[in-house]
Amino acid sequence: MVSIRRQSKSDPKPTEDFIYTDLYNAICERHLPPDTKLGEAMLADHYGVSRTIIRQVLLRLSSDRLVKLEPNRGAFVSRLSLEEARQIYEAWRLVEAAIIRDVTRSITPEQVASLRALIAAERVACDEQNYPLLTRLSTQFHMQLADLCSNKFLSRFLKELIPQTSLAYFYEIRKMPVCTKDEHSDILELIVAGNAEAAVETARKHLDGIEAALNARAAVDRRISLVDKLNSRLSSLS
Ligand SMILES: [Zn+2]
Repeated sequence: MVSIRRQSKSDPKPTEDFIYTDLYNAICERHLPPDTKLGEAMLADHYGVSRTIIRQVLLRLSSDRLVKLEPNRGAFVSRLSLEEARQIYEAWRLVEAAIIRDVTRSITPEQVASLRALIAAERVACDEQNYPLLTRLSTQFHMQLADLCSNKFLSRFLKELIPQTSLAYFYEIRKMPVCTKDEHSDILELIVAGNAEAAVETARKHLDGIEAALNARAAVDRRISLVDKLNSRLSSLS
């Protein structure tokens, strides 16, 4: 299910935050591949708002590094080189290890319950083959772990880093979501058991597994225009 939604005429105009979140999710759920042109006029028409609002949204997405703004050409979904994708995973492994060590010292029963509920939701999404949702929940597992870290610089860094891994998707050989449910559960239960180093090692293998699926050859010919994407969504609604 594509997360881009056309507003019906009777709906109030969407806010800047709504459009930002909608496009952010569309990129992170991998509906909009790298290099997709995000035309201002087209998006303004689609959401029924002014181009000024669309420009603000594109500016915010570019500061998240999910969108690149090119003079005289407009806005495009960012593209990562395979090397950049690998560097992101390298950074992620290092920061994740520090976060796991920190969280193992401080995690509370309520926080454990919340993470277990998230993993249960991942299982349901997986069983229902709802891959966009599973992708979002898998990312959320790492984001939520980062939120529990007492070092706010580390959490902020990881939360900036992870959305960019969505851009690396087009290098993945498999079409399956990035994270497997049992690996998240293994990481969490080792944290709960107070075994930080085993949890760090399990997380490292988990991220290694995702990185190992990156492959430059898979990046070929997966481009689709925003208009095509929106049109296919609209025709599926009619
Ligand atoms: Zn994961």
